[in-house]
Amino acid sequence: METNEDKLQMLQCAVKNYDWGRLDGDSQVARLFSLNSGSEPEPKKPYAEFWMGTHDSGPSFVVTGDENETLKSWLLKNPHVLGEKVLEKWGSDLPFLFKVLSVAKALSIQAHPDKELARTLHKLHPHLYKDGNHKPEMALAITEFEALCGFVPLEELKVVLRTVPEVMDLVGFGNVLPIFGLTDQDGEETVKRELASVFTQIMCADKDKVTEVVGRLISRLNKESEGRELTDKEKLVLRLEEQYPDDIGVIASFLFNYVKLNPGEALSLGANEPHAYINGECIECMATSDNVVRAGLTPKYRDVQTLCSMLTYKQGPPEILRGTVVNAYVTKYLPPFDEFEIDRCVLPMGEKVTFPAVPGPSIFLVMDGEAIIEVGGSMEVHIVAEGDVIFAAANTEVKIRQASDLILYRAGVNTKFFQTS
Ligand SMILES: [Zn+2]
Repeated sequence: METNEDKLQMLQCAVKNYDWGRLDGDSQVARLFSLNSGSEPEPKKPYAEFWMGTHDSGPSFVVTGDENETLKSWLLKNPHVLGEKVLEKWGSDLPFLFKVLSVAKALSIQAHPDKELARTLHKLHPHLYKDGNHKPEMALAITEFEALCGFVPLEELKVVLRTVPEVMDLVGFGNVLPIFGLTDQDGEETVKRELASVFTQIMCADKDKVTEVVGRLISRLNKESEGRELTDKEKLVLRLEEQYPDDIGVIASFLFNYVKLNPGEALSLGANEPHAYINGECIECMATSDNVVRAGLTPKYRDVQTLCSMLTYKQGPPEILRGTVVNAYVTKYLPPFDEFEIDRCVLPMGEKVTFPAVPGPSIFLVMDGEAIIEVGGSMEVHIVAEGDVIFAAANTEVKIRQASDLILYRAGVNTKFFQTS
């Protein structure tokens, strides 16, 4: 016999007002948070991230009618809703953290440590690295979304060193020279070593020197823009300098791939890969963690040594994920990490769709529109609308009907994890 316990739980979720966020009226995060919490967004306040999950820095609450309790403590009391395999691998906590980001201004140049480094950093510097878990992540664009991600390929690096004299000024001719002699035949490790050396010298450059060189770069680009069309990267560099004057990240960005995602395209970021989100709005999913090593484009603490030594120095443009079509309405994005996957569901007026039961937990976010959600094989029915966030227990079939132009995102544990374990 079915117990009378609900399979679906409505969640009240947290917001982060980091200074790079978008202002109310221009921010999906502000809109969703306000609908989700029933509170008015504050004018002139940036709304950067909407967090759905159990992380202690921004916990979600289960709405139980009388007294709200955190999803984390609710899961501790009801671990069976996570499913056996998830419990066995990650214990009685949600393995993923689901987010919406509204980016007005670049985020710091950062990378997320792998499990081993995460543990070490947490042990050595617990006040700086509060989290001992790794943090692979995936960003799925909901508007055009710009990012810097990974290092440019060798040939492009040579072009940068030839055409951006300011990089040479920082690093010195003698240190740049070996790169010009390299070809792809020299082997990955050799190329990585030289790239690491140049990047580290840029990032470690003396503060006064950086101010001077950035100043020279900006006046050169402004002058040249009168005679020629600047490249996309050069235009980006001018924007970054307005946001973070005198920051070494302005120069370092020449070494990274500049990526523009269209809505529906995603980027997955493994451990130790440098990246910086620049502008736009996205859905993000990651392992439950807040573990970031920063080194540029930030007023926050910079750990240049750690960042420079942890990176993989892999080169070339990142893979862009376009998802796999599950049915007429659902596209699935599967990153190469066990902890999570994202489904994107666009359901036109009057249509219906079923999310089959999966062996792990899910979180559904209603981005737009309304619908009726019911649990297969039970009497449980909910009317949901934009801003609603719903936790679904493992092994729950979720049926959605009577949609009115519904846009819905689901985060769950990666399907491949259940196939291989
Ligand atoms: Zn990141």
